[in-house]
Amino acid sequence: MIDELLAYQAADGKLRAVEQEISATDERKKYMTARKFLEKAPEKLEALDAKATELRATFERLQKKYAEIADTIRDYENLDEMVDEQGGEISFYKKSATQIAESLRSLKAEIGRLASAIEETAAEYQTAKKQTIAMQKQYKEYKVRYSEVKQAHAAEIAAIEKELAALGEKVPAATLEKYKAKRREKVYPVVCEVAGNRCPQCGMELSIADQSKLSDGTFIECDSCHRILFKRK
Ligand SMILES: [Zn+2]
Repeated sequence: MIDELLAYQAADGKLRAVEQEISATDERKKYMTARKFLEKAPEKLEALDAKATELRATFERLQKKYAEIADTIRDYENLDEMVDEQGGEISFYKKSATQIAESLRSLKAEIGRLASAIEETAAEYQTAKKQTIAMQKQYKEYKVRYSEVKQAHAAEIAAIEKELAALGEKVPAATLEKYKAKRREKVYPVVCEVAGNRCPQCGMELSIADQSKLSDGTFIECDSCHRILFKRK
């Protein structure tokens, strides 16, 4: 049974090589980059939206502040009358005028900060827009080119898969299922022959219990890399 499984693994290795070749092409890399970018685009747009909402709220708050200061200043139009009527209160108004000047200074600083934040967000939006347009173009172009690459290997893959189907029939179904599950986890080679007392792939020392199971001809799984290990009797 082990030789059949190893023959299956050898053919599977050819399939893996083709898969890796496709995976390393510029066509696939550029296709995947564009796809990932576009998948995350709505998230970025939402973040920019949230920023815009926040800036609008700041703008409204500053507008309200401005209106309050303007109201206070309007009271000063009647300053002459107010001072004449009440007399001796001029120092109070002087103090208020200083407070207004202070409020205006702080308002000006806040407006300055808001203006730069708006500029920054607008620039960020422009960059995101340009990138998105470029990535949409790349996605469209490389989707076609990547599918051409896959198409170019289709016959080769089909031939190996046919070979694998034939070889797979000679391996017990449960074993084959286990093999395929590991392969889906990107483990390769899945099955390895042990020579000494260590896993030949990851170098992990095998327990006494595992070593005796191996000597009995039983398959074990490496505790560290989870490969299937065996020893020939
Ligand atoms: Zn291992």
